[in-house]
Formats: sequence, C-alpha cells, structure tokens
Amino acid sequence: MLPGEVNLPEVTFTPGRADVNQLFNSLCAETNARFTRRFAHCVRELQNHMYVKLQGQLLCPNCDSNTLIRKGWRRRYLKTSRGSFRLMVLQAKCKTCGRTFRPLNNLIGLPFSRRFLNEFVEKGIRAAVDLPFARASRMIKILTGCRISAETIRQKLHAKAANLQLSKEVSGKTILVDSTKVKSGKKKRGSPVHLAITAHKGAKVAGRPSIQKRLLHLHVGNSGKLRKCLKTIGTENLVHDGFENLAGCATNVQRCRWHLVHQLKYYLRQDGVPFESRPFYQNSLKRILWDSKDGPEGLKTYVKDLKNNGLKQSAKHLSNAQHEAFTWANHPGFSFTTTSPLEREMRELNRRADIGVRWTDKGIESVLKVLFYYRMNQQSVNPKEITQSR
Ligand SMILES: [Zn+2]
Repeated sequence: MLPGEVNLPEVTFTPGRADVNQLFNSLCAETNARFTRRFAHCVRELQNHMYVKLQGQLLCPNCDSNTLIRKGWRRRYLKTSRGSFRLMVLQAKCKTCGRTFRPLNNLIGLPFSRRFLNEFVEKGIRAAVDLPFARASRMIKILTGCRISAETIRQKLHAKAANLQLSKEVSGKTILVDSTKVKSGKKKRGSPVHLAITAHKGAKVAGRPSIQKRLLHLHVGNSGKLRKCLKTIGTENLVHDGFENLAGCATNVQRCRWHLVHQLKYYLRQDGVPFESRPFYQNSLKRILWDSKDGPEGLKTYVKDLKNNGLKQSAKHLSNAQHEAFTWANHPGFSFTTTSPLEREMRELNRRADIGVRWTDKGIESVLKVLFYYRMNQQSVNPKEITQSR
C-alpha cells in the first residue's frame, strides 16, 4: 500500500454491497466516529494544556483563592451539526474552602448554559429566516441528525437580531426607502415595516448588471424611528415610495417614479375612471416622469388637466408629489431614481411574513432584520470594508 492510501471498509466487499451509496454511507459512519473521538481528545488536551499554563491565575469562585488541585473530569453533552458529542470538562477543587468547580468552562467557550455549538445555532437561525420556526427545527433534525427546538431557534434568532449592528455607510450616496404592511400587532390591518437600504450598480454577472445592496435600517411600527435614523446618517440622496413624508431626511429627496405611476391606478379608481382607461393615464404619466427636459412643465399641465376633468384624487396625489418628482434631473448623483432594487426584497419580506398567523411587531421585526442581514450585508458592498474586516 502506498503512503496516504486507506483501506476500503470491509463491508463494501461483501456481495450486493458494492455500491457507491453503500460506500459513501460506511465511510461517513467511519469518519464521524473518528471525528468524534478526535474532537473529544483535542478538547481534553486543550484543557490540560490551559490548566498547566494558567496555574496560579485560576481563582475559586467562592473564596478567590488560587490554591487548586485537579479533581477529575465531568461529562458534558454538546450538540453540533455533526451530531451530539460527549465531552469531558476539567474539574478542580479549592484547597481553602473545598469547593469543586470547573475553572476552564468559560475560557474554552463552554459556559454552563451552553448546550449547542455556535455553528449549529447559526444553521438553525439560517433555516428560520426562510421557514416557520417549527419547520426549521424539523429541517435541521433531518439534515444534521441533531435536534434544536423551534422555541430555542426563536430565542437565538431574537438574540442575534438584538445584537446586529448595521453599518451606516451609504454607497453611492443614495438611500432607498420602501414600506409595506405586515400582519402583526394589534391593529386589524397590521403594522407598517420600514426598510432602508443603500444600493449601487455592481459588476456584470453572467452578462447581466448586478446591484450591490446593503440594509441600513429596518423596523416595524410608526415612521418616527426611520426619520430619526435617516437624519443621523445624513445622506445626500434619498428615494422613497411616498408612504411617509420624508422631507428633510436627506439633502435631495426624490419620490420613486415607479411608485408614482403605480399608485396613480388606485386614485384613478377612486375617481371612477374605468379599469380599461387607467393604463392610458399611467402611460402618459410615465412618459412625463422619465423626461428630464420637458417633464416638470409636462407634469404641471398634466395635473391641471386631471383637475379639469374632475379627477380630483389623482390630481391631488400628483400635486403633493410634484416638488419631489424631478429631483433626479437637477442632481445627477442618484444611483437609482426608483426603489426597484427594493422590490425583490419586498417580495422576500412578504413571503416570510405571510404565513397565516399574526406576529408580534417585535417578532416579525427580528426575523426580517436577520433575513435581510443574510441577504444583503454578509457580503461587503464597499471594497474598503473587505480590507478592514480582514
Ligand atoms: Zn475556595
């Protein structure tokens, strides 16, 4: 046998078992058993090594004395994505007061409350941003063979959301804001979710232009928090859907052009315009809003025409937005002039939020925050950030 070569497991040589699936399974079992032994061995070695190195520095939690003697090992079970492991933790006894304790638990990352490895918890959270908690728990059980309850996943996800620090760095000096309602809280129609991202056009991927997005802010409830956050960031350009009045939250504020056209449909309906005639009005508005030269004058005339034709609600909708409709034409720095990079994210939001139950505001906020963190913030938008984090 050449060095580095490994014997085939005997089981695969018996008749009827010479199958790659069989081979795979038996090698997995063998590797797992070896991995378990090796992991337990290394954790033990690590503690032996640390105990010697830290002699004199380890203190009794009861009387602060540093005269300790070794007192064997204690069993602990730890769940990981490769199964449940039995580990031994080092015990010591205080010579002064006689207390027995485990002096290295916190140092090696195994405090008393810890029953899961971080990587296992992380997998549970990852699954739960896409699936309901109970289903995420079942999925983890199927894929890893180790169990983590739906309630534990929920708690860990909340803890992660509470500790998330979102970067306030704005790429391309442009922030996009969109809002939608989710079925949460006490109000019958639910609570609004406000989402602020920053986006700029990235390199082409497979011949198609990509968009680099990053979550800046997300919360469920009234818009006060959003305004406060935007003012703290103090960005140059802001594009919003018109759901809230965000005047003064950035130097240049632009109403999303796509939303202006889309929302017009509802106001036309209120004004009694028949369904089949609505696209005509929408198309003319679209032509005006995308025309940087004659657009502003065109919009004024358009609003007047709507008023003269008795379409009061539609006219009001547009005259309210008029002052923020052509900011992009005078300030060429906008990386986007619609909130379209957010539309894909809003679909994702609705998919996770709409599961037929009523959420609490806090509950859905945590889930969405972590969901978008995974979707947008795990890859750095700004190349500078990559170098910093290394
Ligand atoms: Zn003591």
